[in-house]
Amino acid sequence: KAAAHDASCIFCKIIKGEIPSFKLLETAHAYSFLDIQPTAPGHTLIIPKYHGAKLTDIPDEYLADVLPMTKKLAKILDLDVAGQAGVGYNLLQNNGKIAHQEVPHVHFHLIPKRDEKSGLI
Ligand code: 5GP
Ligand code: ZN
Repeated sequence: KAAAHDASCIFCKIIKGEIPSFKLLETAHAYSFLDIQPTAPGHTLIIPKYHGAKLTDIPDEYLADVLPMTKKLAKILDLDVAGQAGVGYNLLQNNGKIAHQEVPHVHFHLIPKRDEKSGLI
């Protein structure tokens, strides 16, 4: 069985609590925390608790926790309120250096989009 963690990986260290993070949600197979260099307030990273650089490296049982967690976060962060204009979000996941991936542990970016005129910032 492949190792779930890589001792030198920054996101594996975050999962294990070896380096600090602003945690939002955690399940048996997924973990989410605020991005240290947010492109918007509330920019969140959702990661499987399994070390792998690309989406195809991650077993489905780990990925199965990622999207339900992302849905919960969209609600918690007030990005997905029925009938509310001026608010939304982008979900982004980079695979490979050529695709701007910097950290080689799969992560989904949840990036809030809020209209400045909405008064929600
Ligand atoms: P990538 O370009 O690989 O898709 O994005 C990596 C993301 O991880 C970047 O947005 C970067 O700010 C974030 N990041 C890198 N190191 C850390 C860290 O130690 N803590 C946190 N919270 N985010 C990090
Ligand atoms: Zn890792």
